[in-house]
Amino acid sequence: MKWLLLLAGLVVVLLLATRNVWRPEQVATAACVGAPEFEAAARRNAQTFASVAWAPFGEFETGWDAYAPAIAQEIRTSCGPTTPGFAAALAAWQKARHLDAAGEIEPNTFEAMRVIWMLRRPFVAATRDGSCPPGATEASLAQAAASEGYRGRLVQLRPGALAAWRRLRDAARREVPAVRVDPSLLALVSGYRDPLAAEALCLANGDCGGPARANCSAHRTGLALDLYLGAAPGLDPISSADANRSHQAATPAYQWLVRNAGRFGFVAYPYEPWHWEWTGEPIARV
Ligand SMILES: [Zn+2]
Repeated sequence: MKWLLLLAGLVVVLLLATRNVWRPEQVATAACVGAPEFEAAARRNAQTFASVAWAPFGEFETGWDAYAPAIAQEIRTSCGPTTPGFAAALAAWQKARHLDAAGEIEPNTFEAMRVIWMLRRPFVAATRDGSCPPGATEASLAQAAASEGYRGRLVQLRPGALAAWRRLRDAARREVPAVRVDPSLLALVSGYRDPLAAEALCLANGDCGGPARANCSAHRTGLALDLYLGAAPGLDPISSADANRSHQAATPAYQWLVRNAGRFGFVAYPYEPWHWEWTGEPIARV
């Protein structure tokens, strides 16, 4: 009995020690290349990685490299996205969901993953029936310091979300050298956005019909925030251009967020690497 408990304890310790680690430099470890039956799948993944033309989130885009960290996290692998080890982990994930377990990133598999990601966001669950939660009131919001905003921006959030972001940022500074040496990383680019002002802006720009961003944005709740993750040359830090999303997905800061933001109550919207939502309090209903 005693040794069974010891064994169970050891298994738990090993699981805790090995989960949630994907770093690009680990691409060629033995466990990642030692799966010959998945070499062909890995080659096909390498072909589509930066070249597949598709629109999984409704906007035309090229490649799945911007999703590689989120996919690796979902299938619990530390192997790089074009390795046989990654394909093997993907195949196990596909098999458990009765998908074609070839270990290749293809539209059916990606769609299954996308639905999981979207439903993990309380805001999506709250708006699925077409309703839109009321905006946070001015009095219910807390003000971040100018030094916490990207380029001094004054950002407002619900107090719990702001406190959780501060814990996340402090942990990232302790755990990620790139974040420690660059105080602008993970700064607040945007938080609460006034729904009326957002509507006026989209009317002025003639783009209210686009993705939910304008009509019923999660930013109205004061629970959603955009974080500075750098930007591709010449692009805005919240530009959804492929080059920008690919650039951000490859950063240590983003890869750390994908593995660790959940510790602080945040969920991702993988189409926009910068956008995170705090789940520590319920979404207000109409
Ligand atoms: Zn956002």
